[in-house]
Amino acid sequence: MHRLIGRRRFLRGAAAVATLGALNGCRLVPEGSRPETRERLQLARLRASADRITRVTVCTRPFRAAGPRFDVEKIGPKTVVHNYGHGGSGWSLSWGSGAIATANAIATGERDIAVIGCGALGLTTALLLQRAGARVIIYAKDLPPNVRSALATGLYTPDSRICLEQHATPAFKQAWAQMARQSFHTYLGFLGMPGTPVEFIDSYAVFDEPPGQAPRTAPDGRPAFAELQSELLADLMPRPDEFEPGRHTLGQRHVVGVSQLMFNLTAYTHTLLTEFNTYGGKIEVTEFHTPADFARLKEKTLVNATGYGARALFGDQSLVPVRGQLARTIPEPDVRYGLFYRNVGFVPRRDGLVFQVAGDSDYYGYDDDTEVPDREEAERAVNTIASLFAKT
Ligand SMILES: Cc1cc2nc3c(=O)[nH]c(=O)nc-3n(C[C@H](O)[C@H](O)[C@H](O)COP(=O)(O)OP(=O)(O)OC[C@H]3O[C@@H](n4cnc5c(N)ncnc54)[C@H](O)[C@@H]3O)c2cc1C
Repeated sequence: MHRLIGRRRFLRGAAAVATLGALNGCRLVPEGSRPETRERLQLARLRASADRITRVTVCTRPFRAAGPRFDVEKIGPKTVVHNYGHGGSGWSLSWGSGAIATANAIATGERDIAVIGCGALGLTTALLLQRAGARVIIYAKDLPPNVRSALATGLYTPDSRICLEQHATPAFKQAWAQMARQSFHTYLGFLGMPGTPVEFIDSYAVFDEPPGQAPRTAPDGRPAFAELQSELLADLMPRPDEFEPGRHTLGQRHVVGVSQLMFNLTAYTHTLLTEFNTYGGKIEVTEFHTPADFARLKEKTLVNATGYGARALFGDQSLVPVRGQLARTIPEPDVRYGLFYRNVGFVPRRDGLVFQVAGDSDYYGYDDDTEVPDREEAERAVNTIASLFAKT
């Protein structure tokens, strides 16, 4: 393992880091890969300041220690195909996960299919069902942009809080890798589309000292979250670039950069909804209080993509909320790179710059479903990144 790319949370979950990663827990830099040395790195100046914060949003990642739920359940006359519990990886795994749910739903023989939920998983599964020839109606309490998925960071982080390491069996790893690859390749098909729903960015992890290794387990001895990306997707991860002090514009620091897929969620969601409508999809706003409420639907096959909502709807106490907060600031079209510094991530989303405190482990925000914004944390996130650009 290269000395600069230890098993650090930021590299992983957040890791991904490169920054960004850390935000969600994926690893951007493959273990064993050697950073390349490039020419001097010139980063466009970022106007990071607390007065440019436009909003602070909070949402919960729907985490299950054993990973997402995909089984098929009979509830009265209905067949319910589950597709929820993707932790910090819901967008990243959505296409592969939706493919599993689609196969399970189509296998029932029905062609009129209901999807419960209009977040990352519901929307992608609905599209895949349409592509498979089904007539689809989405039933949901909330629609974009008022769904939790709209409050995500927007990075390809497929192993972010996806399960605990102890549950990452060989069978799970195989299924996960297939989902992650299928999603990655589907996302490539959105590159270059109008509105830039998806794009590659360069993300830079910035260190005050040459970074070393961090322990794999959480500091308080709690079980580790699975880290799968470097083991199973190394071929999808570009080699990192290394910039020593003097070869970049961020002072006497050490910088490691990687390329990473980013989702501009506003444009991306619009693209998905447009396709759903084009193929005749229908949406009905409604809330289900218990599974017995499904009896009123005319469709016999249902896909359950209710995310964290499944905890109340299905009584799934294995769903644990992992709180995450974003500070959004005014977009800056010239800033096309991400940063990760002192456990804070910055993502150059075109629909609003994102600043996020990642915490020092994946347990940051664990079992916390409070959705009240923390202004102090938001300003700390912005100010930490701003300090990289302070004149010395
Ligand atoms: C701060 C943060 C950053 C994140 N960053 C990333 C990232 O960069 N990349 C990534 O891949 N993932 C990221 N995630 C994770 C990702 O956001 C989630 O995994 C994903 O949003 C889950 O989507 P979902 O469709 O399952 O749930 P949701 O988006 O919550 O959608 C659920 C849908 O079901 C509906 N519903 C729920 N209950 C009911 C009910 N009883 N009746 C009717 N309808 C109901 C809701 O109204 C909604 O339409 C992040 C999460 C957080 C919190």
